[in-house]
Amino acid sequence: MQQAQYQLIIVGGGPAGLTAGMYAARGRLKALLVEKGATGGQVLVTDWVDNYPGFVEGISGFDLMDKMTAHADRFGLEKKFATIASLDLLGDIKTVTLEGGEALTAKTVILCTGAKPRKLDIPGEHEFAARGVSYCATCDGPFYRNQEIAVVGGGNTAIQDALHLTKFASKVTVIHRRGELRATKILQEKAFCNQKIDFLWNTQVREIRGGTGGVDSLLLRHHNGDESILAVSGIFILIGIVPNTDMLPVDHLHTDASGFVVTDQEMATSIPGVFVAGDLRSKRSRQIINAAGEGAVAELAVEHYLGNQAPDQPLNCSE
Ligand code: NAP
Repeated sequence: MQQAQYQLIIVGGGPAGLTAGMYAARGRLKALLVEKGATGGQVLVTDWVDNYPGFVEGISGFDLMDKMTAHADRFGLEKKFATIASLDLLGDIKTVTLEGGEALTAKTVILCTGAKPRKLDIPGEHEFAARGVSYCATCDGPFYRNQEIAVVGGGNTAIQDALHLTKFASKVTVIHRRGELRATKILQEKAFCNQKIDFLWNTQVREIRGGTGGVDSLLLRHHNGDESILAVSGIFILIGIVPNTDMLPVDHLHTDASGFVVTDQEMATSIPGVFVAGDLRSKRSRQIINAAGEGAVAELAVEHYLGNQAPDQPLNCSE
């Protein structure tokens, strides 16, 4: 019978993947984490994290992920930085094939591929991408010093990022399709008190306009059907996320209506030996602490699935 190289391969190195990896390394599993970019995931570009327990004064997203990476490294987690070309997850032995052709095999996989920003899909969005259209306030905010910009959305990301953008922009107009925000109350309070933030309620962006210099205005449609033009030099589209399911065998995975993967309480999916943790998972709350917690639960479920039979490893008496 074919032998797997690894007991566990973790796909994705955000908070869920790094926590699963840290637990796996401590559990002495033969485990590998595969990440296509830098470890940290979406949190890397989160300006400030104010609600991760233990960091009383808050911590930057970058620093938090740096610490999570260092924590996994401390226990010797094996990592590989590579882009995955394909995943074969249906058999007893799972195969993760990298671009370039290297095939890695494992008895179990934890998918932590997360999610990416949802697009508005309106005229001008694609044309002006990176020329005034952005999905990342931390990355692009400094380009808008003393300029008037817009943020679309009413969730935690939109409001937290609107607040962040006031450090640079002279004015931030939050455009929201409803009459009330979805964001948590403390963020709402801060935004309502911020002199640089204006709100346009019950309003949708219909078109992003501009020229060779980039974005210069937005065509808006209001609740009563009226249209208007808002002059801005940048628009941050922060309207939620869609799951990163490229390459996943979605025909075999139970997913919800939005495409997020449904698991049981142990993070097990409908495919034996395949687990999901973090934003890819179907759930109501998406917090860094959830992702980390799910990474831990998934790894412990993997140990249970494997029958807790870690391979013989030399005793490590240095810890
Ligand atoms: P979200 O909570 O799903 O909010 C998306 C927002 O965009 C909603 O206000 C929604 O409007 C609006 N929207 C969606 N589609 C739209 C469209 N086509 N046109 C116009 N507006 C549209 O997404 P998120 O803010 O990106 O947050 C994602 C997850 O991460 C959430 O679970 C959130 O709690 C979490 N998160 C937490 C923190 C934190 O705790 N500090 C920070 C960031 C993110 P409606 O309200 O009308 O649906």
